[in-house]
Amino acid sequence: MPAMFVGHGSPMNAIELNEFSNEWRRIGRILPVPEAIICISAHWETRGTFVTSTEKPRTIHDFGGFPPELYKVEYPAPGNPELASLITQMVTKTKIEMDASWGFDHGAWSILKHLYPEANIPVVQLSLDYTKSPGYHYELAKQLATLRKRGGLIIGSGNIVHNLRTLDWKMPETGFDWAVEADIEIRKLISEGNHKPLINYEHGGKAFKMSVPSSEHFLPLLYILALRRENENLSFFNTRIILGSVSMTSIIIGTDALSIDQS
Ligand code: ZN
Repeated sequence: MPAMFVGHGSPMNAIELNEFSNEWRRIGRILPVPEAIICISAHWETRGTFVTSTEKPRTIHDFGGFPPELYKVEYPAPGNPELASLITQMVTKTKIEMDASWGFDHGAWSILKHLYPEANIPVVQLSLDYTKSPGYHYELAKQLATLRKRGGLIIGSGNIVHNLRTLDWKMPETGFDWAVEADIEIRKLISEGNHKPLINYEHGGKAFKMSVPSSEHFLPLLYILALRRENENLSFFNTRIILGSVSMTSIIIGTDALSIDQS
C-alpha cells in the first residue's frame, strides 16, 4: 500500500468542499482499497505510545469556537482491536500500549471523512509520545513498514508549516516569505531523500524555527518519510500555504496514481 502525509489545516475542511478536500476525495477514489488505516495525528500527544483498541472508536471534537454543524460530524468507522494488538507486538523498539479511551480526533476524521466517506474501513490511531526526540519517531515508524504489505494504509496527519501565532487572515492563499522558504526547502529535502536535516529540524535556520515552533504537526511527516523505500515513487499534492503560516503540502509515496505532480 502507499503511505501518505496529509496537511489537514482547519477542522472546517471536514465539512467544506474546497481544493484540499476535493483532492482528498480524488485520492480516496484512485488508491487501492486498504484493509485498514493506521493514522498518526498531530492531535493525539501522550506520554508513552498508545494505539486505539476499541471496536467502535468515538468521534472526538477536539477544538473550540467552530460552528455547531462541525460538532455534529461523526466518523463511524470501526476500530480494529486485532490490528492494534499486532502493532503492540511488532514494534520492539519501544513499548506500545493499547488504549480504550481515545477515538478519532479531528486530525484523523477531518481528512478521512473525505478520503473514505463511507467510513467502512477500520481505523486505528497511533499516538505521538511528546517526551521523545524526532529521531525516535523516525525509527519507530520504520517498524510499521510491514503493515503496508498487509494492506494497511499509513497516514500521517499534521502540517509541515504550522504557526498559529502568526496566522494572517488577510493572506488566505499565500504564505510569509519564511513559510514559503521552509516549505520549498522541506519539499526539496524530501525529493532528494535527504531526511537528516528534517529529523534535525530543531537545529534548522530561522525559516524552520518560525515554521515549526512545536513538533506535533511536523512529526507525522517523519513517520511517512521513514516508510519510504529507496527510489520509491513520491508525489506532492495540495502544495499551498494558507493564512501566511500553514502549509497544506502533502506527500504520497508508493504509487504513481497521482499522475499530476503538483510540486
Ligand atoms: Zn491540526
